[in-house]
Amino acid sequence: MTTNILFAAKAERWTTYEQPLTKSLTDAGIDFDLRTEFAPEEVDYIVYAPNSEVQDFTPYTRLRAVLNLWAGVEDVVGNETLKVPLTRMVDHGLTQGMIEWVMGHTLRYHLGIDGHILGQDGVWRNEAPPLAQDRKVTVLGLGALGAAVAQALAGLGFDVTGWSRSAKEIDGVRCESGSKGLRAALSKAQIVVLLLPNTPATENTLNADTLALMPRGACVINPGRGPLIDDDALLAALDSGQVAHATLDVFRIEPLPAEHPYWAHPLVTVTPHIASETRATTASQVIAENIRRDLGGEPLLHVVDRSLGY
Ligand code: NAP
Repeated sequence: MTTNILFAAKAERWTTYEQPLTKSLTDAGIDFDLRTEFAPEEVDYIVYAPNSEVQDFTPYTRLRAVLNLWAGVEDVVGNETLKVPLTRMVDHGLTQGMIEWVMGHTLRYHLGIDGHILGQDGVWRNEAPPLAQDRKVTVLGLGALGAAVAQALAGLGFDVTGWSRSAKEIDGVRCESGSKGLRAALSKAQIVVLLLPNTPATENTLNADTLALMPRGACVINPGRGPLIDDDALLAALDSGQVAHATLDVFRIEPLPAEHPYWAHPLVTVTPHIASETRATTASQVIAENIRRDLGGEPLLHVVDRSLGY
């Protein structure tokens, strides 16, 4: 029997995804019909972007699963009309992009690159930067992205600590968990990278108290989600010198409003939510594999725990 797959995302996404999804579903041996429109009661799976027009899942009476195109699920996880499993995006291309983005911004701080680009004033400051082994980097969140980023940083030689909800063991990474673990993870961190999901439990993970745990002059890199940081507390920490610099890719309101103090702050770099994105070719393979598994009676991969919110 043909499996009906609804692609529910902005129209421009369809242009990007139609071909790779068709190829991956074909390669997976699935007999499918992939479209942007169906009668709801005929749909088996929805490939889904939370900003699509589909917000009420009630009419989708034979739906088996919703396959999110994004890693973050905060805009769909609380949808009470969604009664079937929700998977989030774990995509090799997305992960690799995040590794590269975090690595670039970490190296900017580690090597003091700004000092040489901005400080070209005829003064010969010939102090070499330390080696990575002498730079303490903490990654908050050790999921698909955080664990890969932590391992890549450790692979370059950084002294890496990671923090997650549940205890973990990752080669080359000192792993902490729980609220005591957060204190340990932050207390020596010279560079902190946030790769937590946006849930009620992670809101304001960096606040006045936790920012004060970090050594004076630490730097913050946030490619996770805006609500992970108490903005007023970060601005105060930047103004007092507790935090030396912040690179922020994500914000409570996006696009970041023109009048927001982050734009003009000399110690903040704003990037427009570009740290990494789902790549159509690799993401399509993940989606096709998940549909193949579900049709074959195997458990879906990357299922969201609705009670935890990620
Ligand atoms: P993930 O695999 O779900 O991992 C989330 C990690 O956060 C896990 O290690 C989890 O701990 C930890 N965590 C969750 N709640 C926690 C809590 N209350 N206390 C401590 N740790 C907690 O997610 P991911 O795929 O790595 O993605 C992380 C986030 O990156 C996404 O949710 C999204 O918001 C963001 N993102 C941003 C971009 C961008 O372009 N800026 C792109 C993609 C994703 P456990 O391991 O114990 O479960």
